[in-house]
Amino acid sequence: MKILAAVDIGNSTTEVCLAEENDAGKIRFLSSTSVFTTGLKGTADNTTGILAALEEATVQADITLNQISHIRINEAAPVIGGAAMETLTQTIVTESSMLGHNPKTPAGMGTGYGKTILIENLPSIANQESYIVVISSETDYEEAAKIINQHSNIIGAILQLDEAVLVYNRLDKKIPIIDEVRDIHKIKEGIETAIEAAPPGQSVGMLSNPYGIATLLKLTPEETLQITPIAKSLIGAKSAVVMKTPWRNLAPPQKIGSISIKGDKNIDVDFSHGAGTIAKAIEAAGNIRDITGEANTNVGNMLEKARASMTDLAGYGENPQIRDLFAVDTFAPVAISGALAGETSLEKAIAVAAMVTAGRLPMEAIAQGLSKKTGIYTTVTGVEPVMATLGALTTPGAGFPLAILDLGGGSTDAAIIDENGTVKSVSMAGAGELVTLMIQSQLGLASRITAENIKKYPAAKVESMFHIRLENGDTLFYEEGIDPRFFGSVVVLAPGGMIKIEEERPIEKIVRVRQEAKQGVFVNNAIRAIRKLNIQAKHIILVGGSAEDFEIPGFLSTAFADMGMVCGKGNIRGTEGSRNAVATGLIMSYAGGV
Ligand code: ADP
Ligand code: MG
Repeated sequence: MKILAAVDIGNSTTEVCLAEENDAGKIRFLSSTSVFTTGLKGTADNTTGILAALEEATVQADITLNQISHIRINEAAPVIGGAAMETLTQTIVTESSMLGHNPKTPAGMGTGYGKTILIENLPSIANQESYIVVISSETDYEEAAKIINQHSNIIGAILQLDEAVLVYNRLDKKIPIIDEVRDIHKIKEGIETAIEAAPPGQSVGMLSNPYGIATLLKLTPEETLQITPIAKSLIGAKSAVVMKTPWRNLAPPQKIGSISIKGDKNIDVDFSHGAGTIAKAIEAAGNIRDITGEANTNVGNMLEKARASMTDLAGYGENPQIRDLFAVDTFAPVAISGALAGETSLEKAIAVAAMVTAGRLPMEAIAQGLSKKTGIYTTVTGVEPVMATLGALTTPGAGFPLAILDLGGGSTDAAIIDENGTVKSVSMAGAGELVTLMIQSQLGLASRITAENIKKYPAAKVESMFHIRLENGDTLFYEEGIDPRFFGSVVVLAPGGMIKIEEERPIEKIVRVRQEAKQGVFVNNAIRAIRKLNIQAKHIILVGGSAEDFEIPGFLSTAFADMGMVCGKGNIRGTEGSRNAVATGLIMSYAGGV
């Protein structure tokens, strides 16, 4: 009897499995585990992760490491994927001229127009002009309300502290009040200002409309044109202030740039034409040898980042080349410089996944290192797509001709195998990492981990201490009560329990952004792969980490059903779901004498 270990090192995950071969040559699988890949795929740093995974697998199988007689490491496809994003436009407001926000406790409603005045200077004013009073944290709410009540010509107030309701409740004549304006000291006196607070449940109507601002601030047609980005960024705000100060909308700080594709056909394409045009150029170029970006431009920098991530391999004499590129049009909230309360504006952005290939990854060095550390005979064998296909074939119901889609972190790989065992394969840039990046940027999330959680788990709103509303509208009750710190928040339902989303984003938006990112990346890439390989197979099995997703397989099944194909998530060995295909294939190929 012999114990075999198989190791698959991916961009994101290192998967292993253990199997036992009895004297009659029959294989029985013992255990499988996965860990995050340590270091860049294909480098000596991977050993740490491999050892951790092997350790865990032996514990599960109730054996010790030295009982393993042979480790087989997959000859990993020399494909490394990376994703990056750049914003293409930028709104800059010179001098503080706008603010709009969504206070938790709004006060007052209506619109007003007047000149700004500091509350300290109000008593010295005798005229009857209209004023908007600016109240810093030095004046308390009782005092502020008292002074406002003595002046009938005050039509609105701007507060530094979160005290709008406290002031409002003490007013004889109600006026719109904006509060929580951190940088209130930036506001100058005597500036013509428009203020608006929306009725409950609504958002501002005048200040989110360029002509509304023009009406209140008496703007010329030229000024109205210029104010449009401000109006745009106030859409959805519950209260807002716009001041008439000199400002301009600067051109993007850096050129977007173009790429040069070298392939069967050489094509240059300008990135500002958008994702659709880029995709057409990539397809038209045929087999791509390399892609370079224009120096000192947005794209140029993005592609250099992708290439730089491979410099570790350059130490092995490799010169990494970009073999595929996948771009998606997106939006990203960007802080407006010159704003007073940290406002953001949605700017046009482009997200890019690039796939870099090396001639051959230095896998032998990893095998030697591992063998030295463990004393176990270690070999590098098996071509990744072939192994993944062999593994996928262990899915109950799978048969020839079979196509697989390996939905990973950095790349989406496709392979097709016929009855003779001939395998054709292709790798496309763009997979799970790109989806996470798009979710993070479009929702303006501080942490990548939050984006990863939103990607993986369904969302819900905690509506009371005892129930939540799921994103599909269903209600779920909790007899034992919900932790009060979740109350009113959007959460995701992870297997270990609820995780609160710290950033306040409407649940509808979270769901829309999440689904659009998944569709945009995986449906497009699956179709690209099918076309490239000219796949006619009726069965398409999904493997890899992103096939574990709770909605991606559904999106792909729907897309493929329209093309008359059966597509579904694999179930490797009938037990592993979409995971462990390559490692399983490595064991199968050993048993089959491949
Ligand atoms: P690789 O083979 O390139 O190492 P994997 O097959 O391990 O990649 O896939 C990694 C990707 O799978 C990551 O983007 C990760 O976010 C995603 N992923 C892992 N588990 C899940 C899950 N349960 N739902 C959705 N995505 C998942
Ligand atoms: Mg993989």
